[in-house]
Amino acid sequence: MAKIVIANFKMHKTENETKDYLISFLSKYEDYKAKLILAVPFTSLPICRFLLKGRDIALCAQNICEDDDKGYTGEISGKMIADVGANYVLVGHSERRTKFKEDNKTVNKKIKNGLKNGLSIILCVGESLADKNSMKTLATLKSQIEEALKGLYENELENIIIAYEPVWAVGSGKTPTQKDIEMALKSIRKVIEEDFSSKAGKEIKIVYGGSITSKNASKFANIVGLDGVIVGGASLDNNIFMQIINAMA
Ligand code: PEP
Repeated sequence: MAKIVIANFKMHKTENETKDYLISFLSKYEDYKAKLILAVPFTSLPICRFLLKGRDIALCAQNICEDDDKGYTGEISGKMIADVGANYVLVGHSERRTKFKEDNKTVNKKIKNGLKNGLSIILCVGESLADKNSMKTLATLKSQIEEALKGLYENELENIIIAYEPVWAVGSGKTPTQKDIEMALKSIRKVIEEDFSSKAGKEIKIVYGGSITSKNASKFANIVGLDGVIVGGASLDNNIFMQIINAMA
C-alpha cells in the first residue's frame, strides 16, 4: 500500500509561490507514488484546489477554530476551510502547543469541530526534550492522545491520522532512533486499543515527523507499523520533497 506523505509548509509561501511550486511539482509527480497530503497556509488553499483538480492529492489546512460562526476576529472556522477545498486539518502541532499555548482540551475541541465539518484530522503528538530525558515519553503520548480523542466514537478514528512528532526533533536536524520510533508506535497503538478496540489499535494510521530530509528519508520507509511521514522544512523545495516521496515509495 502506498505510504502517506504529508508536506507541512508551515508559514511559508505566498499564493504565487505555492502556484509556482505546484506547477513544477505536478509536472513530475505521479499520483500512485504516495497518499499525498499538502498542508499549506490558508491563503494558498484556493489556488491548490484549482491546480489539484482531477488529481488524487489531498489538501490540508494547518489550523482550525474550535467554533463556527462566532464573533472571533481573526479566526478561521472549519466551515470556511472545508469551503475552500481542504480535506484535512492539522491539529495539535507542537508549534501551536508551544507558541500559541494550545492545550489538549483545545485540541479535543478542534478535532470535534473539524470532524463536524467533514474534515479528516492529522493529530500531532510528541514528547518534549524534558519528557524524553525524564523517561516520560510514553506517559506524555498517552495523555495527549487520550485527552485529544475524548468523546469520539470508534468509527471516527477512520478519519484521523496520528502524527508522532517528538518536539525536540521538529526543525532541529535531530531524529529518534528506529527503536525509539517503534516503541512510540507500539504505545500509541496500545492506547488506542485500550480506549477503543484492538481493531482500532491495529488500523489507526500513524506517521512520523521531525527533521526528515532527502538524505535520511529511506530510514523511515521500512519501519514496522509506520504508515508514512510528515515533512516540514524539507518539503519547501519541490525537488527535495520529490526525492523524499521516492525514498518512501
Ligand atoms: C513539522 O513541522 O511537522 C515537521 C515535521 O517539521 P520538520 O520536518 O521541519 O522538522
